[in-house]
Amino acid sequence: MDRMDKRIRRAEEEGCRNHKMESLLLRQFRERFGGKPEAKACAPGRVNLIGEHTDYNDGYVLPIAISRRICAAASKSGTETVTLRSGNLKGEVAFDVGAIKPSGDWGDYPKGIVAKLRERRFPVRGFNACFLSNVPIGAGVSSSAAMEVVVCHLLEKLFGFSIPPEDEAVLCQQAEHEFAGTRCGIMDQFVSILGRADSALFLDCRTLRYEHVPFSLGDCVLVACDSRVERGLATSEYNRRRAECEQGVKILSERFPAVKALRDATVAEVEECSHEMPEEIFRRCRHVVTENARVLETVEAMRENRRERIGELMNLSHDSLRDDYCVSCAQLDLLVDTARSIDGVLGSRLTGAGFGGSTISLVHRSAIDEFQNGITEAYLKAFDTAPRFFECIASDGAERANKT
Ligand code: ADP
Ligand code: MG
Repeated sequence: MDRMDKRIRRAEEEGCRNHKMESLLLRQFRERFGGKPEAKACAPGRVNLIGEHTDYNDGYVLPIAISRRICAAASKSGTETVTLRSGNLKGEVAFDVGAIKPSGDWGDYPKGIVAKLRERRFPVRGFNACFLSNVPIGAGVSSSAAMEVVVCHLLEKLFGFSIPPEDEAVLCQQAEHEFAGTRCGIMDQFVSILGRADSALFLDCRTLRYEHVPFSLGDCVLVACDSRVERGLATSEYNRRRAECEQGVKILSERFPAVKALRDATVAEVEECSHEMPEEIFRRCRHVVTENARVLETVEAMRENRRERIGELMNLSHDSLRDDYCVSCAQLDLLVDTARSIDGVLGSRLTGAGFGGSTISLVHRSAIDEFQNGITEAYLKAFDTAPRFFECIASDGAERANKT
């Protein structure tokens, strides 16, 4: 009963926060563009429970959409000009729909969506829009995908067309590839659209088949901890990892022609080819293949409510990302190591692409204070920065949120 009360209280708090955001957004819109917007939409950020760097290898992922979201409001401008304002970042973005070029700022995300929609002949013309978000930016919980998804939904409503959710995810992914220059996989956009409250989204990134797996934590909480590290290397290293995986597939497929992506390889096959590939390519392959197996095992553990095992798998995932995939950094390792040293923490790992961003930890409710205090103290001492914490609650993606 007590747990239920807490749940309801939390849901009310979240609802209230989102409600407040909406009224702030409407005020912003009225002050800048006048009147009421013709269309509104929202889209959440995400955390990935497990399955890191597997999406672009045709593998499995297991993310949740979180309660943090970006909200948008828009009206048609009646011309070909788009004018955008974000309550979170400085500078207005303006461009014509007939002449879209990336400009190296936040406008590239909405520009990418407009360009992709027009390429597919959807009737997108000029519009005025405001954005307001409580998804931390650059913290590894995919504010970028939330931005892409919210723009896509906003324009569908504003100009009166509709795209199936799976196609939306692909379109948003392409926009990020071509306009932001990150060759991201499909996970972030997919879960921002199709996530569901109280569920994790088990997605096969090859077939795009998915399943909502009930995600209940009982007396545990999933806590994200933002390292606040600038991810300067993230884009170039991310794209390099993709290339390394492709190199691995090329070598593996010579001996095992059925291997079209790392998803198809077994650990034994990777080991058999270890002498034919550079050491670091071998390690990259080993991470992806073992991580895929960990996703499948986590889904089973979730179904059987074995939370201790989920925590262990999170730990193994982080160790593999640190040692084999080499995408962790001193700050993330310290957050994870400190978390693991605290009684009541079941597991901890980096989430997202790495090189900064956030960790997630599975923590007993009774240990939350000790967890936050212990980590803050250790992190301040080592890096002179206070990390930011936020609870991750599995929430509805844009598809459901924008229909209700
Ligand atoms: P992450 O996706 O981990 O948050 P990225 O670097 O991939 O980090 O994406 C962050 C970028 O997305 C920001 O630098 C900005 O360009 C854009 N963005 C995200 N949220 C907003 C927002 N509320 N307003 C304007 N731009 C945003
Ligand atoms: Mg991103």
